[in-house]
Amino acid sequence: MRKPFYGALAVTFAAALTASLPLRAFTESIDYDSINKIKQQGLVASNSKVMDTLSYLTDVAGPRLTGSPNIEKAGQWAVKQLSDWGLTGAALEPWPADATGGNNGFPRGWSNDKFYMAAVAPDAFPIVGTPTAWTPGTTGLVRGNAMMVTENTLEELKAKYTGKLKGAWILRTPPPDVAAYWTAPAKRYTREELDAMESPAYPEFGVANPAAAGRGGAPAAPAPGVTPCNAGRGGGGGAATPNPCDAFFKAEGVAGVLSTAPRGHGIYTIGGNRATDPATSVAQVAITAEHYGRIARLLAKNLPVTLEADIKNTYTANPPMFNVVAEIKGTDKADEIVMLGGHFDSWHASTGATDNAAGSAAMMEAMRILKQSGVTLRRTVRLGLWTGEEQGIIGSRLYVNAHFATAPARGGAPAAASSPAQTLPGVPAGVTMVTPAWSKFAAYFNIDNGTGAIRGVYLQQNQAMAPIFREWMEPFKSIGMTHLNVGNTGGTDHLSFDAVGLPGFQFIQDAVEYGTMTHHTNLDSYERAQPEDMRRNATIAAAFAFLAANRDEKLPHKPVTALPAGGGRGGN
Ligand SMILES: [Zn+2]
Repeated sequence: MRKPFYGALAVTFAAALTASLPLRAFTESIDYDSINKIKQQGLVASNSKVMDTLSYLTDVAGPRLTGSPNIEKAGQWAVKQLSDWGLTGAALEPWPADATGGNNGFPRGWSNDKFYMAAVAPDAFPIVGTPTAWTPGTTGLVRGNAMMVTENTLEELKAKYTGKLKGAWILRTPPPDVAAYWTAPAKRYTREELDAMESPAYPEFGVANPAAAGRGGAPAAPAPGVTPCNAGRGGGGGAATPNPCDAFFKAEGVAGVLSTAPRGHGIYTIGGNRATDPATSVAQVAITAEHYGRIARLLAKNLPVTLEADIKNTYTANPPMFNVVAEIKGTDKADEIVMLGGHFDSWHASTGATDNAAGSAAMMEAMRILKQSGVTLRRTVRLGLWTGEEQGIIGSRLYVNAHFATAPARGGAPAAASSPAQTLPGVPAGVTMVTPAWSKFAAYFNIDNGTGAIRGVYLQQNQAMAPIFREWMEPFKSIGMTHLNVGNTGGTDHLSFDAVGLPGFQFIQDAVEYGTMTHHTNLDSYERAQPEDMRRNATIAAAFAFLAANRDEKLPHKPVTALPAGGGRGGN
């Protein structure tokens, strides 16, 4: 039964909202019987499967670096699980072919199969670390002295170290200062903080926070004749290029490069450059700040430090690249699509639990909830679990380009203003091709901000969504979903939809330990996921998909001339 939500209760709720928000009529039709079925299936711990799913993705499949054997294993498991739950069309959908033959920037797959590192002199101690992605290992068990080599241009390195680095493990930065945990590393949004996200600095009906609109600037161009070691690029969305200093270290016979992270407390972050060529690069290892610092302090006292390591990394040529898809067919509007998604890939220092097995498990669970609860879905609800997100939101962008519309090339020249695609209302400038499916697309919801409970939605500068989402959040106020932020939040896969004018949204989530302990770190394991938050997130995602699937109209597109971009957050 579909019950419109009107009346005295609405007035009470409206009056209770902060004074800065406009009163509005409740016009969305909310089928509370179905919402309650969804809650029963998702929130009741004995019905929920979300932590089981999380354990398979993390403990069983392991880290899911894009292009690795593990991510394929995880994808195959997900396809089988989704099929077993009764979803249709579950498959690993290959990325479209790359016209350049470069496998969309993934010339090789990579996995770390063995890691041992220890100091053997002047004192023996084990070293905790993880090889940087796509770097080569050692040739079996090797020993070498540690050296501090902090110069950062190829020219300085050549002048100072030619002929002096054979067999060395080099430390490329001074040891970091590690601050104490003066504030608790885990946090949830307070009511005041959530209110501030809706305050006049981040209004729904005004100008976004100008201070947040622009961040940083372009790095200064290097002086002529200077080759900075950081000129190589591998983490971003563009073409990856090798680090120009790698080849020098390789030619000098360096054993490997050590790095660390200032957060300390045994935590380090990991990354990697997919353009790293084993023929021209050496082993690279991220280690804890405490081990890194001890080595550096011994070296500063002119005490030689001998390290021993045995690292086995395996490359696979031209690995299969894919997104995981599955769906539940709709009824009378089956040709219209609502999508749930998140990125399936991770980094590899742990099992990528909060980034982003948490989002993948929540969205898989949302699909299970929709199927198992038996609620009617007028539109088709489709799951998309993306790979290559960590290398620049690649999988979802390729999917959107293949199915819906071609986004403008990032960093490239905008397409001609007379592009025929722009004659459709809601298509942003620079979009060069729009398929019939674009007009049938209702909404995309993404989870990729860790394990933390959903507290609201970033509107992605789409003010027209505010009154709709306010009403959709009503059934979830009691579990903490209360606020909207008009801002544009960046760094994850909803941007692929947003870029071509499709309504794509990321939820506002509590940080918990995301920025302080888990994001891209060696602690990003199952233990860091919060079961109750996970159940809430899966349930809310299921309900939002249900509401989007059954609304009479598709969700409104944002105006082509959007608000300034401030107010959100970025980086996943
Ligand atoms: Zn990430």
